[in-house]
Amino acid sequence: APLPSPPPVKTTCPYCGVGCGVAVVPDAAGGAHVEGDKAHPANFGRLCSKGAALGETLGLETRLLYPMMRTGDGPLARTSWDVALDRVARDLAAVIDSHGPGSAAFYLSGQLLTEDYYVANKLAKGFLGTAHVDTNSRLCMASSVAGHKRAFGSDTVPGCYADLEAADLIVLVGSNAAFCHPVLFRRMEAARAKRGTKIVVIDPRGTETAAEADMVLPLAHGTDAILFSGLLVYLADAGRLDAAFLGRHTQGFAEALAAARAIAPDAAATARACGLGAADVAAFFALFAATGKVVTGYSQGVNQSAQGTDKVGAIVNCHLATGRIGREGMGPFSLTGQPNAMGGREVGGLANQLAAHMGFSPAEVDRVRRFWSAPRMAEREGLKAVDMFAAIGAGEIKALWVMGTNPAVSLPQTGAVRAALEKLDLFVLSENVAANDTAACRPHVMLPAAAWGEKDGTVTNSERRISRQRAFLPLPGEVKHGWWPLAEVARRLGFADAFAWTSAAAIFREHAALSGFENDGARDFDISGLATLSDAAYDALQPVQWPVPKDAGAGAGAGATPGTARLFADGGFFTADRRARFIVPAPVAPPLGAEGFPLLLNTGRLRDQWHTMTRTGLSPRLAAHEPVPFVAVHPDDAARLGLAHGGLARVTSAQGATVLEVRADPRQPPGTAFAPIHWSFANASHGPIGQLVQARTDPLSGQPDSKATPVALAPE
Ligand code: SF4
Repeated sequence: APLPSPPPVKTTCPYCGVGCGVAVVPDAAGGAHVEGDKAHPANFGRLCSKGAALGETLGLETRLLYPMMRTGDGPLARTSWDVALDRVARDLAAVIDSHGPGSAAFYLSGQLLTEDYYVANKLAKGFLGTAHVDTNSRLCMASSVAGHKRAFGSDTVPGCYADLEAADLIVLVGSNAAFCHPVLFRRMEAARAKRGTKIVVIDPRGTETAAEADMVLPLAHGTDAILFSGLLVYLADAGRLDAAFLGRHTQGFAEALAAARAIAPDAAATARACGLGAADVAAFFALFAATGKVVTGYSQGVNQSAQGTDKVGAIVNCHLATGRIGREGMGPFSLTGQPNAMGGREVGGLANQLAAHMGFSPAEVDRVRRFWSAPRMAEREGLKAVDMFAAIGAGEIKALWVMGTNPAVSLPQTGAVRAALEKLDLFVLSENVAANDTAACRPHVMLPAAAWGEKDGTVTNSERRISRQRAFLPLPGEVKHGWWPLAEVARRLGFADAFAWTSAAAIFREHAALSGFENDGARDFDISGLATLSDAAYDALQPVQWPVPKDAGAGAGAGATPGTARLFADGGFFTADRRARFIVPAPVAPPLGAEGFPLLLNTGRLRDQWHTMTRTGLSPRLAAHEPVPFVAVHPDDAARLGLAHGGLARVTSAQGATVLEVRADPRQPPGTAFAPIHWSFANASHGPIGQLVQARTDPLSGQPDSKATPVALAPE
């Protein structure tokens, strides 16, 4: 139906990393008419089921509308902003005075706007002196970040969505894009219908994406790096290398190839190691070698792994070796999980980063210190998410500010996370819902934060595209924008001048200016071309792909969209010698602690839910897709274990247990189980699957391996 007048507000979907544009017209009843934005280059008007249901999720019934505070062991009670912020500032200062800056931490979210993220990082890393600032993006794509930094010298996605439409072959590794990046998958399907693109899915699990593929390689868990090492050997032996690109723009190929030969000397050996048919592997290798325009997309099956960074490296090796990077229809492509995982990293949202993709070298610390006139710069990396919560449990971190995420459901070993949260001397929770599992862990202060529809700022999607999230609803109750209480606490701590913004636009300008500050081309993230946007130009900002350096012009609000679709076609990597690095993957380690727990539990998303369901759970239409939490196992395993399809199973790991409905699913590989991540104590009687998930992490990225927890199943 045509949109009713007045003209819609153009904003961005708050769910997955596709970052679809949304056109919204609010109605008189507090809801809204929602359509895809036909002009947005991420989706050109398409929306998936979650995006299309956004208008059903705008009610205020579950919202936190006022600051809440508890005193001693008492319950949370409504208070004023002044009282709440005075308490936060006083207790934060007391903890740091008594125990040092490292006793304070922030745990942020890929749901936050870039501007909120920027202010939290500035306060923590520049003014409190703690780098313990991590984010749920650690659970999402930290391995891709680490993999890209090792190979490219920077956290850069080289290509863009249009490459998926220009490719002749799309290889999806560990990605159920049909459920997790639905609009992007529809773009791939449309391109296939038009130009005959082949889609290969590499995934142990039979997914909805695999069902649509031309070729499926259901490799054994954790063998991705072996498969791509075998591919590198094949490309070399078949004479498919790009010698000119290798010679001019890379380093370390000979060593990487020798290591790959030791791991996977030929297609037959690769197939054996990966548990695949030799003919299937040979066919995949031949197809990849013979097709110039190849995009390899990867997502959580690669990232959420104890070898995630090496898996990314093994994939990138094959693209570097063939020069298939940064050119139309070619490249490795990380499919980001969250709406602003990338924007968060742009401002330093990981414990091992400073703002503008800088690290903790003395020169970078000094540069950021001078830009901020920061009195107390953090000078070394902080703790990554899993280690941060372990330090809270050990009593080393005593003050924590959580913003826009629900770690009591989403982190591994949620039992330990809950216990840790209750130990804190100061636990601040910025939230837009009044009740969830993290709010049940006795925060001292809860601060009401703006939700989608009220928020005003920017997000960055999987193709480096910065888009505006614009408000179309007023802030309800005493709700404030996410950055505001951070700035108010900074003011109370004596830093008023450095936190004096009155708008998201002003924060964005500072962030953009920092990105270009003393950047002689050594940093990939540079949006200094947007640093002088007026408030009106910021409001009108059109979706634009970074980098947008100063000389690109600042015309992004005027219809022209400068920006960069692709990088690295002609080298120019962000290493010291501007050459990319080939990676030698470490040997694949077997899953841990299998004794007594004979199945490997894989966790993941469903089509119609998002994270812990605090918003999508409000839509009955979305809930109808999968109304109850479940565990899927192969029918042979179900029969062997005495489990009935539709009955209940107790699922137990070394970390915890829960009870789930059984799905006997022939697509599930024997010896494995799958459970969705979305349910919590708040919306299911038996609690989150995170209770069971191991806290094993990738040694480089710190990303938890959420795809391979040893478990046992028994009838309940
Ligand atoms: Fe939103 Fe992702 Fe669906 Fe697009 S594909 S509408 S960004 S959930």
